[in-house]
Amino acid sequence: MRKLIDESGLRLDGRRYDELRPIKIEVGVVKNANGSAYIEFGNNKVVAAVYGPREAHPKHLSLPDKAIIRCRYHMSPFSTEERKPPQPTRREVEISLVLRRAMECAVFLEEYPRSIIDVYIEVLQSDGGSRCASITAVSAALADSGISMRDLIVGCAVGKADDQIILDLSDVEDKEGQCDMPVAYMPNLEKITLLQFDGAFTVEEFKKAMDLAIIGNKKVYEILKKTLTEKYFKTGDEK
Ligand code: ADP
Repeated sequence: MRKLIDESGLRLDGRRYDELRPIKIEVGVVKNANGSAYIEFGNNKVVAAVYGPREAHPKHLSLPDKAIIRCRYHMSPFSTEERKPPQPTRREVEISLVLRRAMECAVFLEEYPRSIIDVYIEVLQSDGGSRCASITAVSAALADSGISMRDLIVGCAVGKADDQIILDLSDVEDKEGQCDMPVAYMPNLEKITLLQFDGAFTVEEFKKAMDLAIIGNKKVYEILKKTLTEKYFKTGDEK
């Protein structure tokens, strides 16, 4: 097994244990959507598009007292090193489900009875942590659509490699490391809306990892907040 962290504490891409990859967020990138966003989270490149709230088709899907969210997370065939077959895999079905559940915590669904909100996530390039990049893009897209939310949601993973807790795992750290724990977080409500886990932590490691995940998520939130503020308030372009 190769070392993922060198003697001076640097990871393969030169980051320290508590550093995020560079993040860039843009909103309003898909003309036909009600809200959309594009995120670069290191080498992950993800587009999220929100359609609705609109009348549900077929009608029997709708609920009389609140909206339902339909979510599709999809990795494009060219998003990975080896071509990924375009049809949805079990992994994509699972990620679509956990992202939908994360969104359901944040959206005021009861404000949109009998309607449906469709959320499409297209991963153009993936490099570990795409579900966390996706939830951040989705929350930017939901904000762009003007849908009422309790809070924004941001995501970033923590894990363990070479027996050290590290923030925001890249693909190689995810695959060759010991642990991967994606965490999505509502920063103002201080609530976790997605928590998955692959590997093994001691109780102490889990606590340390969770603290680091929250610090990382707060940094992602600052970037998201800055993007939205610049788009809607500094330019006077309010929706
Ligand atoms: P996440 O992207 O949220 O970390 P996983 O931990 O399941 O989700 O995947 C880690 C990384 O493995 C992905 O970001 C992607 O780069 C790669 N990967 C996932 N599925 C495939 C696939 N079918 N083919 C090739 N690479 C994949």
